[in-house]
Amino acid sequence: MRDAARYAAIVRGRLAEKPLLRVPRKIPELEIQARWFAGEFGRRFKSTAGDEVEIKQFGIWNREPGPDFSDAGISINSASTVRGGIELESDARDWERHGHATDPVFESVVLHVFWNAPSAKFFTQTNAHRNVTQILLDLGALENDPPNSLPVAKAGRCSAPLRGMDEERIRELLRSASQFRMQKKSARLARLIEVHGWDSALYQSLAATLGYKNNQLPFTLLSQRLPLQSAGTKEALFFGVSGFLDSPDLKQFEADTRSYLREMWEHWWALRDQFHAIQFDRGLWRLAGSRPANHPQRRVAALAQMVARWKELRTLAVECNPAAITDFFATLRHPYWDYHFTLTSARTARRMALVGNTRVAEMLANVFFPLAMAANDRRWPEYAALRAVLTNRRVEIAALRLFADHPLRDSILKTVANQQGLLQIYEDFCMQDDSDCANCPFPRQLEQWR
Ligand code: SF4
Repeated sequence: MRDAARYAAIVRGRLAEKPLLRVPRKIPELEIQARWFAGEFGRRFKSTAGDEVEIKQFGIWNREPGPDFSDAGISINSASTVRGGIELESDARDWERHGHATDPVFESVVLHVFWNAPSAKFFTQTNAHRNVTQILLDLGALENDPPNSLPVAKAGRCSAPLRGMDEERIRELLRSASQFRMQKKSARLARLIEVHGWDSALYQSLAATLGYKNNQLPFTLLSQRLPLQSAGTKEALFFGVSGFLDSPDLKQFEADTRSYLREMWEHWWALRDQFHAIQFDRGLWRLAGSRPANHPQRRVAALAQMVARWKELRTLAVECNPAAITDFFATLRHPYWDYHFTLTSARTARRMALVGNTRVAEMLANVFFPLAMAANDRRWPEYAALRAVLTNRRVEIAALRLFADHPLRDSILKTVANQQGLLQIYEDFCMQDDSDCANCPFPRQLEQWR
């Protein structure tokens, strides 16, 4: 993986925007949000408390529960940049009316922007009683011209030099970034192996991948608190320690759930004093914002099934054959979880995969291949050939910012390795930038790839 060194060199060197839209008189909220994002209101404001607020980074449109924009950066009174979400609403009181004040997914908000406000002072407070900086927008500052589209992210300054590069150089850049990322993952796994041994490192890493992005911590804790040797095959132990068996009153459940829970309770009853000290608070799980099929309860059941077939799974990990690993996960079955999203949902008519192909692709990219390549990096061509099942939101944002409408954009997203390379650039440059591209060194660094 010689190319990783080239990418590492440009990361070490780290550290124009045209308005996209114009305005009509009666302006819908969505349009104001779009025009805010386009920078039409400017980037320097006075807060309702009289502070100087500078928008360092407008962030990205948030397509998940939570504030309108995530990954934004603001500076108050020239202090260092604070990252978080930005929520735009018609009226300051909408924060309370829409339930944001008690919704934990709005905890990340660093700026509340509105264009109507009551005469009495109104504070924006989060669920943890943190005061959020407020801005009252002046809509009169807008010109009268409607927008054509609502961009999810703006083309970055680097999209121009990337357009000037030939296809071979672009693919080389992505390969280098992807190899750099792979080396970091392999090194992390090697550290974990040194501390906990090969099997535990595999187990803990797979568990973290089951946590998707919202529940990596509880899944990591679960695998650390129930080590492979002690976890045995007892699903009840996983559910009990996860805090999902907190109510012995089964009357509220449907008949099939009742009988499933009764069976688990019979095991958990005998174990719970012994494991009480390591049992989670149920509040540790983030249940909002994930797709029903990805609910942590289904993932906990999947982890128990994986542990039950550990010998088979570890052999597959040693061989790292993507097709065989995909087949293994396709054969994971569960009489209850094949047909339920959660412990409180009704039985579904169709069977659902316990671990779908998208998750398997994540495991291949984050665990199986990094583990295999820690031992033998000549396996890169097999990894590079892996087709991507789907993109995720962050990959799409990265592709939009870097490649805008570049003719190669779609084909680049078709392999796991390219997607991982894109993510690496996004994390190394976009996520470190608080100047909305103006001071980002990446466009300059691209010179050495020509
Ligand atoms: S921050 Fe840098 S890498 Fe990201 S889009 Fe802007 S110029 Fe490109």
